[in-house]
Amino acid sequence: MTDTPKDRGARMRLVEGLRQQGITDEAVLEAFAKVPRHFFVPAFLCNRAYDMQALPIACGQTISQPYTVAFQSQLLSVRPKMKVLEIGTGSGFQAAILQAMGAYVYTVERHMDLYREAEERFKQLRIRVALKHGDGYAGWPEFAPYDRILVTCAAPELPQQLLRQLKTDGVMVVPVGEVEQRMTRVVRTAAGFESTLHGSYTFVPMLGEKAFPDNKKPAVEK
Ligand code: SAH
Repeated sequence: MTDTPKDRGARMRLVEGLRQQGITDEAVLEAFAKVPRHFFVPAFLCNRAYDMQALPIACGQTISQPYTVAFQSQLLSVRPKMKVLEIGTGSGFQAAILQAMGAYVYTVERHMDLYREAEERFKQLRIRVALKHGDGYAGWPEFAPYDRILVTCAAPELPQQLLRQLKTDGVMVVPVGEVEQRMTRVVRTAAGFESTLHGSYTFVPMLGEKAFPDNKKPAVEK
């Protein structure tokens, strides 16, 4: 696959669209101008890669819509050289955005097929991120603590094991809820945890033993 002037044009229009929708973090916008999103969607959808919508990827999952990725990245307040843990690698696009922002990215995916595809994609694009196959509900304790933790699937409640892997002054962004999720930003202070809410979203569920039981899955992201 190639990155043509047409693709770059579509990317710049997407960046303008994100600006108009209220994304102000220049580091996020610069990352969107750099990362070729059309490499991260299934080939038959590559002409829709820069549209403001979520798209299906393998295993019944979705690549979140660009605004959601940008909004979560902005809420996370990422700075270069931070150690960032992402739960739910999916296509790898969000991880690539965080890496383009200068973060050291650790990302966990529970679907083996998606994990393998993302690994191959990162290799081809020479994107250096640490990738693990497993249940992200438990985080990635070997490399903890993290400056930032980003969850890109719906958690039924605040994931306690992930909170424990956050540094003091660290920030976690996680969509919390069942049918619909509240975008939740948690700051770890010396005294404990402080949460703020930032709008409603619909994500694919965080699956696994301790997350959603199979009979209680929330709606899929539209
Ligand atoms: N960040 C992704 C969005 C993927 S959608 C992107 O940029 O494309 C959410 C992803 O979370 C799916 O790939 C799903 O398989 C994964 N997921 C769900 N539950 C998980 C769990 N317990 N641990 C790790 N990944 C999980």
